[in-house]
Amino acid sequence: MAQQQNLSHKRPVPVLPPEELEQQKTYLAQCADLLTQRFGEEHTLLALVHSYGCQQNTSDGERLMGILAEMGFGFTEEPSEADLILYNTCAVRENAEVRVYGNVGELSHLKARRPELLIGLCGCMVQQQHVADKIKHSYPQVDFLFGTHTLYKFPQILWETLSKQKRIFDVEESDGVIAEGLPVRRTPGVKASIPIMYGCNNFCTYCVVPLVRGRERSRMPEDILSEVRQAVADEFQEITLLGQNVNSYGNDLDIGWHFPDLLRAVNEIPGRFWVRFLSSHPKDCTRELIDTIAACDKVCNHIYLPVQSGSNRILKLMNRNYTVEWYQELIAYAREKIPGVMFTTDLIVGFPGETEEDFRQTLELVKHVRFASLFTFIYSKREGTRAAAMEDPVPKEEKSRWFRELLDVQRKIGAEYYQAYVGKTFTVLADGKSDQGLSGRTEFNAVIDFPGDESLIGKFLRVEVVGARNHDLRGELKEVL
Ligand code: SAM
Ligand code: SF4
Repeated sequence: MAQQQNLSHKRPVPVLPPEELEQQKTYLAQCADLLTQRFGEEHTLLALVHSYGCQQNTSDGERLMGILAEMGFGFTEEPSEADLILYNTCAVRENAEVRVYGNVGELSHLKARRPELLIGLCGCMVQQQHVADKIKHSYPQVDFLFGTHTLYKFPQILWETLSKQKRIFDVEESDGVIAEGLPVRRTPGVKASIPIMYGCNNFCTYCVVPLVRGRERSRMPEDILSEVRQAVADEFQEITLLGQNVNSYGNDLDIGWHFPDLLRAVNEIPGRFWVRFLSSHPKDCTRELIDTIAACDKVCNHIYLPVQSGSNRILKLMNRNYTVEWYQELIAYAREKIPGVMFTTDLIVGFPGETEEDFRQTLELVKHVRFASLFTFIYSKREGTRAAAMEDPVPKEEKSRWFRELLDVQRKIGAEYYQAYVGKTFTVLADGKSDQGLSGRTEFNAVIDFPGDESLIGKFLRVEVVGARNHDLRGELKEVL
């Protein structure tokens, strides 16, 4: 059993020494004083923190906001109101980077009007040296920049910017450390995301993540569990455990704890809440994990299992280390063991060298598995990855045609999927407002809108499905649980 194992075992992966964390707290306090000097005693400090890209980035953004809140900042989403603007960037696809350049470019007017405005960039995109250099030379409005490995040093970076009155650019090359004890300001709502590990060891040939986030580092189970306990005590009803590949959680810890152990331990935490997790790499998704999901009542019956392609030839070129047949067997096993389990996936269209025949195989897989929904991407060339050096002869227009065909096929499957739920009643966590009144999600992660009072947000409800659209459901409230 998970909880009988020794959690205090020394970990081999680098953890930020407590002295360093204390040092950062000193910088944090000094930043508060320097900010008062810069903006005045009476001024209410406001920060805008925008995280682009994945949930891991959003989670990092919550830690950055925790640090800013301790310096005395409140928060705004309006750039013209902000005293400090921090863009937490994404590098996974080129269009995310293009958006950041555009948004930072637009800030030059604000900076010209208010030179005291502080503008910073951090995250995956700026961890790439060529990007950091371009920002330094072409975007003089940016005051400071730091990469993914130095997030915990944000107080020091801001202190240096303020006290030395010069631009600070800190892109450290390292595999990163685990920094425990940073303050967190969670996005208000019913859901809390909790990182269980950082980095990635998989080196899928198209992907920049291992290059910008370093190797896998798992947090110690007790640190994760105490953060989950706190989130439950703070009345978050849904906990999402985050990692680039949660299925390799613990491999670096050498304490005999793996992802199923962690799931079981989270499931045993008292309270009414649901547990989700992402992402799962199919190559490391074991039968034990599926049996664990089936056995844990708080763990939702939804698995996000990115497959990327339905062609074994392309999967090999992508370095994914599984076959389409392996993937389908995994799905079949999970469907047998977990009642009502839903699958969602990621697919890349137009990987270098992909042919019409490879693409047809992806369509076949989508039709065969019948995913509830897809996250589909046209391949984007990323500097420094192995795929960037591969021949890529298929024209953009052809890739776009494939992409649209894939969406059409999925639209039909999604509509049929959702239609089949009409007349059934499910447990739903109400998580916000909609034009119907309330919006929520089923355990298998379908969005459902239904009439109801705002006071029910954060409650588990029984809702009958009375209608279906392509991507969501309409319902009628039956019972408050
Ligand atoms: N670690 C996760 C996994 O392997 O499932 C996903 C991380 S990545 C941030 C999210 C998705 O972006 C991937 O599953 C992939 O479909 C897509 N992606 C990554 N690199 C890409 C690229 N160069 N071009 C297009 N899509 C890409
Ligand atoms: Fe990128 Fe592959 Fe790692 Fe996911 S598993 S982050 S796609 S390298």
